Amino acid sequence: MSEVAARIIDGKAIAATVRERVADEVAAFVRERERTPTLATVLVGEDPASQIYIANKHKACEEVGMRSLHRDLPAATSEAELVGLVRDLGEDDEVDGILVQLPVPDQIDSDAIVSAIDPGKDVDGLTPVNAGLLAHGTPGLVPCTPAGVMELLRHEGVELEGAEAVVVGRSKLVGVAVARLLLAANATVTVCHSRTHDLEDVCRRADVLVAAVGVPRLLGRGAVKPGATVIDVGMNRTDDGLCGDVDLEAASELAAAITPVPGGVGPMTIAMLLVNTLAAARSRV
Ligand code: NAP
Repeated sequence: MSEVAARIIDGKAIAATVRERVADEVAAFVRERERTPTLATVLVGEDPASQIYIANKHKACEEVGMRSLHRDLPAATSEAELVGLVRDLGEDDEVDGILVQLPVPDQIDSDAIVSAIDPGKDVDGLTPVNAGLLAHGTPGLVPCTPAGVMELLRHEGVELEGAEAVVVGRSKLVGVAVARLLLAANATVTVCHSRTHDLEDVCRRADVLVAAVGVPRLLGRGAVKPGATVIDVGMNRTDDGLCGDVDLEAASELAAAITPVPGGVGPMTIAMLLVNTLAAARSRV
């Protein structure tokens, strides 16, 4: 029996439409408020990958007409010094969004840093206040990658009300946040993790399958219900290059639509950072 290959969800193109919309809204904001939304980023140490991520975020801000500023701190920075800087940025009237690039060096407790961020400027959506609002079902600033997953589903017109959704992965940053957003959208949500029995069987129940694991090509054809929408958050570096948590080729045989890696969820993350920064700017009087 020949099967129709899944539609590939073009995250890059969808992210571009989000950025265009943000650029228009930033222009209107600047006209009305006579100031420019501003993102502040902080990097401790000189990790080359983190430097690239930060540079990409600044470029994205520039492209939509936002301002961004950056603070570089030496790798030996203490937790108290970093907390002090984050609090100063919280009090700085010119700063709308604060992003501390993670991970931070071992002498610093990242939870202490995240907790020091003003929740109204928490454009990564990681503070206990924003996590609590999400758990409460009244989201404030939502973590960018989970927000990007929901935007992809919305853009694709995937019906979530009453749908069976399975999320593989339960990190605060991705899995749990995606699960809460799907629940808020009235899906019936199952969250899987490393101790889940019969993972493929559980995944095969899913109308919407979200993989946020960090294991290259963990989920194949056996994990996919015919006609499912598959969102692959995984970003795994292998000898063959970057790949997701889903075996794209095998899963495509049964799925109706699937995100590729790269070019799926990844581009949405920065786009949603821009959305969050504008939302944070709007919420300040
Ligand atoms: P994480 O904190 O390491 O969490 C991984 C989750 O997967 C955990 O809940 C873990 O279960 C579960 N897991 C691990 N092995 C499993 C297995 N064999 N079967 C079932 N569940 C398993 O990772 P994360 O930060 O959520 O990131 C997940 C992936 O998304 C990574 O590849 C990361 O690079 C990628 N990512 C991409 C973006 C983007 O912009 N596209 C952003 C963030 C993350 P336990 O809780 O039981 O340990």
